[in-house]
Amino acid sequence: MTLKSINLTEDIYNYLLSVSLRETLVQKALREETAGHPQSMMQIAPEQGQFMTLLLKLINARKVMEIGVFTGYGTLAMARGIPDDGKIIACDINKKDTAIATKFWSMAGVSHKISLELAPALDTMSRLIDKGHRGTFDFVFIDADKPEYPDYYKLALELIRTGGLIMVDNVLWSGKPASPVETDRDTLAIRDFNAKLHEDKRIFLSMLPVADGITLAVKI
Ligand code: CA
Repeated sequence: MTLKSINLTEDIYNYLLSVSLRETLVQKALREETAGHPQSMMQIAPEQGQFMTLLLKLINARKVMEIGVFTGYGTLAMARGIPDDGKIIACDINKKDTAIATKFWSMAGVSHKISLELAPALDTMSRLIDKGHRGTFDFVFIDADKPEYPDYYKLALELIRTGGLIMVDNVLWSGKPASPVETDRDTLAIRDFNAKLHEDKRIFLSMLPVADGITLAVKI
């Protein structure tokens, strides 16, 4: 018996997937296509995607924002979690990667639920705030530039409704934030961001060792 989380060996991880993963054929095909991408590590883990689908169902999410789309696996997972007239504002600046994403969204028949914004996410978020969308989002997924996490978070907290949920990816960043000798730019940014959220009284907070570490923050 141990009080901390289980050490996820390859065997245990494969077992976990074998008894829980419910990917659609399109999700599986997208994962296989992304595996050949030089930055394939940027794709979220499939069990994390499924967890996101479940979370969106749980909070009855209709209006969602994704910051950092890459090839669109997370978007597909979120599209499964919202109703047919729900909306995902998907923010990214990479045309090439999001072209893969839009192809698979179309194959999955969920394109009508997704609005791709090819612009810096902070610009898109500011524009939405100016247009009166403050306090209207149910869920925001933050998974783009690590040094910009504090800024994404600040605007996400404005855009989200009371009781809305923010999920932040890569908060354990391969364990580097826990090691003081690691001082690269991204690690410093994540370490500082995690410490700030710990003190933030505007949210209910939970950090989980899922995939590369996720933080869940519910706006109070
Ligand atoms: Ca990520």
